Amino acid sequence: MICEKCSGDAARVEPQAPAAMELYRCQKCGHEIWVRTHYVQSALPRAAVYAAVVRAQDTADAKKLRLKVARVFARISGFSLTSLDEQFAQGTLVWDLGLYSDSEKHEIVEASKAVGLNIEFQQQE
Ligand SMILES: [Zn+2]
Repeated sequence: MICEKCSGDAARVEPQAPAAMELYRCQKCGHEIWVRTHYVQSALPRAAVYAAVVRAQDTADAKKLRLKVARVFARISGFSLTSLDEQFAQGTLVWDLGLYSDSEKHEIVEASKAVGLNIEFQQQE
């Protein structure tokens, strides 16, 4: 860090735990400089994201589940009925229903209980 007053060498004042602001002091003229850091922000946990998956046992089961999935996800933004229908048309029995936040996951779980649909949520890294 270069001192803004005398262009001398400013060193961080110790001891100091990670903080939003850190103090530097010029070793030549003693001028103090507060520097904003990003420690506090980066220490926050990242929001969890979940992949929603539904498994059908066979084609007959898939037909029933498709209707339930369409009902449960009707009001969930980020869900693609087109994507579900493509997977259904291909005869896939394990459906990737997209990625959802924790609050969306909660909403989907509540809605799925009402129609008796079992949805797996896989937390993403
Ligand atoms: Zn200085």
